[in-house]
Amino acid sequence: GYDLELVHLTKRYGDTVAVRDLNHVFSPGSYVCFLGPSGCGKSSTLRMIAGHEEISEGSILLDGQDVSRLPPAQRGTAMMFQNYALFPHLSVRDNVAFSLRMKGVDKDTRHKRANELLDLVDMTHLADRLPAQLSGGQQQRVALARALVTEPKVLLLDEPLSALDPFLRIRMRSELKKLQRELGITFIHVTHGQDEALALADEIVVMNNAVIEQAGPAREVWAQP
Ligand code: ADP
Ligand code: ADP
Repeated sequence: GYDLELVHLTKRYGDTVAVRDLNHVFSPGSYVCFLGPSGCGKSSTLRMIAGHEEISEGSILLDGQDVSRLPPAQRGTAMMFQNYALFPHLSVRDNVAFSLRMKGVDKDTRHKRANELLDLVDMTHLADRLPAQLSGGQQQRVALARALVTEPKVLLLDEPLSALDPFLRIRMRSELKKLQRELGITFIHVTHGQDEALALADEIVVMNNAVIEQAGPAREVWAQP
């Protein structure tokens, strides 16, 4: 696994301090859930780690290297969004292969890699469909495959299950957990759901008011009054 470290990480939007001086080390290969009320800074933290949001102060170290100023594709991180954001005009396979194409990976290699990832998320049989021809759960699997195709060291998930119906949500939980075990990489998952965090997390980070209020193994965080 890889060490991910936040050092004095701060985000301001004008006068609003969204994230205030976070210092935290994530255990390599762990499933981390971020919990906390709406507006406490979870998404901003995630987006800064992914490189989709500029850092105001501080830095992010991955495996000892400062990745704070690298573009998203060069950080060794990948992010899966709430609404999956698939390209509607591209087939499932081409959605998964897209970022490899942007990197200039040759066609045979990217299709081979896309097919491997589709196999991993059990979507091979639907590889030639368009996103609109898929269910919500299927779209989510494609989005997962698309995020994982770059072989990230850290996968960032912003409320990945909230668009799913309750049945699928429970099923996708165990699939996420299984994937994380198989790949051995760090998953950082933002959620509103305490039950979701308890089902998934090796470590829980509770944010409140732009700071980390508590962090630790799920059982310890829950044991506190
Ligand atoms: P959470 O994910 O916990 O709901 P966010 O990180 O989205 O929290 O937001 C943290 C704070 O930053 C909130 O006060 C929010 O209104 C503010 N904020 C988030 N994004 C922006 C933005 N693009 N511009 C201005 N303020 C923002
Ligand atoms: P181009 O660069 O010519 O636009 P793409 O990489 O977008 O080509 O692929 C065009 C289509 O051919 C895609 O829909 C893709 O599914 C299919 N395709 C190309 N190579 C393979 C392959 N090795 N395995 C499976 N499908 C492939």
